[in-house]
Amino acid sequence: VPRVLNLTGARLHADAVLTCDAAMTLHRPGTVDIDDDGRIKWSGPTGDAPARAPGVEHRVEGLLMPGLVNAHGHAPMIALRGLGEGLPLHRWLTEVMWPREARLRADDIVAATSLAASEYLCYGVTTTCEMYFHPARIATALRSAGMRGVVAAAIMEAAPEWLGDWRSQLDGVARFVEECPSDPLITPMIGAHSAYLVGDDALRAVGDLARLQQLAVTIHVAESAHESDSLSAAHGGASVPRLLADLGLFDGVRVLAAHAVWLDDADIELFARHGVAVAHCPGSNAKLASGTARVRDLRTAGVPVALGTDGAASGDDLDIWEEARLAALLARLQADDATALQAADAIAMATREGAAALGVDAGTLAPGRFADILRIDLRDPGFVPHLDDADLLAHLLWSVPRRAIRDVWVAGRHVVVDGECTTVDVDAAAAAVQATAARIAG
Ligand SMILES: [Zn+2]
Repeated sequence: VPRVLNLTGARLHADAVLTCDAAMTLHRPGTVDIDDDGRIKWSGPTGDAPARAPGVEHRVEGLLMPGLVNAHGHAPMIALRGLGEGLPLHRWLTEVMWPREARLRADDIVAATSLAASEYLCYGVTTTCEMYFHPARIATALRSAGMRGVVAAAIMEAAPEWLGDWRSQLDGVARFVEECPSDPLITPMIGAHSAYLVGDDALRAVGDLARLQQLAVTIHVAESAHESDSLSAAHGGASVPRLLADLGLFDGVRVLAAHAVWLDDADIELFARHGVAVAHCPGSNAKLASGTARVRDLRTAGVPVALGTDGAASGDDLDIWEEARLAALLARLQADDATALQAADAIAMATREGAAALGVDAGTLAPGRFADILRIDLRDPGFVPHLDDADLLAHLLWSVPRRAIRDVWVAGRHVVVDGECTTVDVDAAAAAVQATAARIAG
């Protein structure tokens, strides 16, 4: 690959193209045509490519596949990476996270999000759903990194006073949506922190705003057993999904439930009936001992299940590959069945199903989708031996490390070139985050 290879209006030939469509089709060799707007025009076996190429033709080695989708992140929390090691969720939040977050300033957000974006992109994550404060700063940083973002302006009450009441926070959300740049990279969303930190009136108002502005909503749901028990006790025994449904949040609103660990069969049925998607965060859930989400049951019921890194405070790295591996490992242990979640399923969750959960035109290399593409080095020893397509898929999930992700494009723009993120000044962002972390430590 030459140093920088922008793909808008170009044809790309590769040794292999994994489309991540429903059949996980692999073309060897494969070809992808990209239009002038950075969307895929055609993909398929090289021998079947249309006679007329869109423009310049390039030949690259290795495997092309769609960029990965992170359905639940808090990018600015990279400034709190790994803090509170060994604490359970409630103590971790109240003793370590919130005191520091109260000292975080709007000025800290851009550098932290930029650093997170460079890490995401190097792991092959091209789309991220971010829930945090200062959403306009997050959108600015993601756009400048050339990364696709679904940016959820967060509402949180009954916690740090510095945030103001929920009405003023909701006004802020509406303002963010109104002022959100019309850029195909950025989609605004509403983030209600959770049913334990957003009260009933505020949740009803979130549903109303979402219906009015046709916005999706993301919310932490039943992340820990403690949360479910105490909320349920306060709501006449209703589960968290049931109480959200009773508040009208699922009526005519596309909802993405983060974590969704403590669900019973009726909750899963409720999600399926209302088209609620789940952002499964196995790494964060395991680290905080929150529990293991019922991924196989959710998928069997038809609930879209995407993968999330969560913030770097509890997720540490921003690696969706690792979440895909953990999702498969934990699903198998939970079911006591090695067929519970296959490599192809885990890869689909990281790509096609993630994009579907977020409602973005990405996640498969198919006409009309954005040209968010990874190039993976098939000469990496992690692919040895491989004798057939099934081996390739299995190695892609289980044994191929980050070093094999050599190039990343978002809407055809080359953002990771030979393993290096070229759109972020990583040293400057890292120095700024280091200074922020020292200041907010208090
Ligand atoms: Zn979260």
